[in-house]
This record gives sequence, structure tokens and C-alpha cells, in this order.
Amino acid sequence: MNTGVRISQWLSDRLKQAEMLLSPSRYSCIACNGSYTKRGELPLCNTCSAAIPWILHTKCECCGRPESCGDCSRRKETFFVQNRSAVSYDPIMKEWLGIFKYRGHEKLRALLGKMLLHAYHMHHRQMGPSSPAEAYTELLTYVPLSERRLDERGFNQAQQLTEELSRLTGIPVIGLLERVRHTDKQSFKTRGDRLADLQGVFAINPTALSILQEMTARTTVRMYIIDDVYTTGSTLNECAKVITMELDVAVYGISWAR
Ligand SMILES: [Zn+2]
Ligand SMILES: [Zn+2]
Repeated sequence: MNTGVRISQWLSDRLKQAEMLLSPSRYSCIACNGSYTKRGELPLCNTCSAAIPWILHTKCECCGRPESCGDCSRRKETFFVQNRSAVSYDPIMKEWLGIFKYRGHEKLRALLGKMLLHAYHMHHRQMGPSSPAEAYTELLTYVPLSERRLDERGFNQAQQLTEELSRLTGIPVIGLLERVRHTDKQSFKTRGDRLADLQGVFAINPTALSILQEMTARTTVRMYIIDDVYTTGSTLNECAKVITMELDVAVYGISWAR
């Protein structure tokens, strides 16, 4: 290479570098793959970010629904204190969850996990401040999948979201529940069928039980059950029932969507 060529090569490299420094960084939106320049709290473009149907106020104290709620008033016994969800389960959120759940998209896992923080913070705001005398220990757990479903999917989406929330809040995760019986897809069932179908589905893991028995003898425990979608509350209620039958803990639901 002669000197002239080397100099022009050097110049063009420097020019490219200068160009890169001057032009704003471009990021790729996790949800739609579109590129964007202004980085917000979530790794999304403006359009996707604006499309999130955050739940900002709640009407039903129990389940955190923004509208009036028949499910909670119909429920005969409620074993959880309250549930809070981050977003409304609209078609766009359904699509995002689908990408995460069926294609195991890693980045969406982090996104949905971060969105869960909104539900967790709402829980705290709406529970009010607790006095030092009411000190408690927080623990996270998740709605388990059946072996069959776990084999099909390869991972439990609720468990993954729980781990993300744990990473962000520092609250430990305990694998407390097991699914002892497989149930068919709940979403296709009537309310009555769902309730009957869920009886005896969950059990407490014996090792986790003994850890928690020891813990609850010393301190008050707030147990959060994490799930991706809250529908009627029957799954959360059944999980809470199994837990509160054996343990002196207050159970709360935190779900990504409802
Ligand atoms: Zn986007
Ligand atoms: Zn409700």
C-alpha cells in the first residue's frame, strides 16, 4: 500500500469514528424490533412504550381491577389479602406474553419482569406505611406448572418473572408450591368448572414448608405469589388457600397483567 492510499484510509476511518460519535445511538426495540434513539426506563421505542396499558388506579381493593368487580364479590372465601397487576391484558400485551411464553424470548423476560415492579410498588403504596412494630419479611413465590406443561414449554414463565422481580427488589424466591395434578387450559372453562377443577391441584413442597415454619415462628412473613396473568383470581385463591392452611403467612398476589 502506498503512503497516499494509507493516509486516505486513515482519514476515512477517522471520519467514520467522528460520525458515530456525533450521531445519536440507536437502540433496537425489544417488542417490535424498530430502532429508536431516546432511551427510556424500558427498552422500547416510543410507540411500544406508549401502548402499554398501565393500571394506574384500582377500583376493587381486593384484586386491583380498575373497573368494578363481580369476581371478588362472588367469591365465597378469599385466602389472599390483595392482588395487584401491572397492566391490562389487552391484545398487544397478549402478543408480548405470547412471544415470551412460546418462543422463550430472553429480552422480553427482562422487560416483563421490570414491568412487574409497577404492580409491586402499587401494592406497597396501597397497603400504606407499616410501623416498625409491624416489621415483616417479604418472600416471593410463583404459581407452579404441571410436569407435562413444563416439558412442553421448557420453562415456567411465572417462575422466570419471579426471578426477575427478585433480582430487581432483592426479595428472595422460595419454590413453595407444587402442582400435583395436571389441569387442562383454564382459559376455556366456565367459572364453576375452574373452581372445581382447581381443587387439590396444588400442594406445599415439604422442604419449603419446614423452612417457613421455622421462619414464621420468628417473624411475620408476607408471601407474594407471582403469576403472569390474573383472570378471575381462582388460581391465586387456591394457591393462597393451600399456603394459609399450613402456614401463618399473609398471602398477596402480584401479576403482570389482568
Ligand atoms: Zn417498538
Ligand atoms: Zn376484584
